[in-house]
Amino acid sequence: MPSVEIKPALDAQLAARLRNAQPALWTNPARQAHPPAGLQALGRSISLDDTKAAAARWERFAGLLALVFPELAETAGVVESPLLAATALQPALGMGEGQGRLFIKADHGLPVAGSIKARGGMHEVLEFAEQLALQHGLVQPGGDYRVLATPAAREVLGRYQVAVGSTGNLGLSIGVVASALGFKAAVHMSADAKEWKKDRLRQRGVLVVEHAGDYERAVAAGRAQANADPLCHFVDDEQSFSLLLGYSAAALHLQKQLAEAGVQVDAEHPLIVYLPCGVGGAPAGITFGLRQVLGPHVHCFFAEPVQSPCFLVQMLADATHGAGQHPSVYDWGLTNRTEADGLAVPRASLLAAALMGPLLSGVFTVADSTLFAQLVLVLDTLGARIEPSAAAGFSGPAMLTGTTAGQAWLQSSGVEPVLHNATHLVWTTGGLLVPDAQYQGFVQRGRAVLAESA
Ligand SMILES: *Cc1c(COP(=O)(O)O)cnc(C)c1O
Repeated sequence: MPSVEIKPALDAQLAARLRNAQPALWTNPARQAHPPAGLQALGRSISLDDTKAAAARWERFAGLLALVFPELAETAGVVESPLLAATALQPALGMGEGQGRLFIKADHGLPVAGSIKARGGMHEVLEFAEQLALQHGLVQPGGDYRVLATPAAREVLGRYQVAVGSTGNLGLSIGVVASALGFKAAVHMSADAKEWKKDRLRQRGVLVVEHAGDYERAVAAGRAQANADPLCHFVDDEQSFSLLLGYSAAALHLQKQLAEAGVQVDAEHPLIVYLPCGVGGAPAGITFGLRQVLGPHVHCFFAEPVQSPCFLVQMLADATHGAGQHPSVYDWGLTNRTEADGLAVPRASLLAAALMGPLLSGVFTVADSTLFAQLVLVLDTLGARIEPSAAAGFSGPAMLTGTTAGQAWLQSSGVEPVLHNATHLVWTTGGLLVPDAQYQGFVQRGRAVLAESA
């Protein structure tokens, strides 16, 4: 590992901004242009082959998914989102001439789950179903998985339970796909989970267990209950390889979409990706995939709420003390309170953090008021409906061009001289299923913020 040097003055400034819940940018001095093909985390090594295996699993299940989810008939069971040009939004984000082109990866419209959680959450349930189906002889390797929709197969899967702890969106994804495949499903929700998400799950026959504490408490409670039951599979958002690899498969699809859109990725044409981050599994999985597939000239930044920068404080701890620490945002005097409920996580996934050490370019934080304002800008310029969590990435370009830390990174990364050729890709991670009344409330708050700053 390269030795880590942090300029003391900058570091103190960053620490002060973090503590004061002001938007801040940290860039990763340990990023490697050419990381090893296999990366270690939690005692296991993963590589591009694992990402390809996840993509192949999605393909094996496509026929079944098209059968059990009417909304997937159109795409023949493929759960994917478009890559959209977002040039119209550039001026509103403060992107001047010569600062590159803006795209969005529209996971806010991902079918079935309505968020990026479709990628990881559905993949893990599919992997569990596949394991059981082979074990019970319900399918043969290479066979047609549509037999899993038959009553006989569903009866077998129905003996098992899938459980998860969630702030909301992961629970939605797991609960919906598990119940659709015939599993029993239990979702342990934190106090900040939205009521409509609980209602939606209950309507699907999913057991919703409410916990008074935060996301971490909900996960711990779910994990304990599931460990006591041999027929229960617990989806562990803090340490699941299956989730992470499900997310990573997005990279293979995006690679094709970039090629179709005529977007090159090389030294002259960097790709900068901005990913909203909660516990870190989704953005780390995608970053892992993108770095394997696209190489050194894709730069990934995570975006977190100013009150919940769990990944940033984890990366800072790793950079200053080495591995072994697991700080929470409470340790920094922060509240973990944010309207970006998908990102309201006090402590990062150590799996995600370990993998990101050599891969990630940086992490920045965003105020809730900015999320609401940008949610409105996205509606007005692109007509897209996103939830507050999904707006976190839109501060990325200005964070790089308009802050001292960002400008220093542009210089040191070699992006600055070719910024005019850069592609900025903001990952919009959720929104499709947000009820209209809730969404209108977000829009009102965003319009108020915009009116105030006008
Ligand atoms: C969960 C979630 C994320 C982040 O995923 P993590 O794996 O928790 O980091 C981002 N956006 C939305 C809308 C989410 O629900």
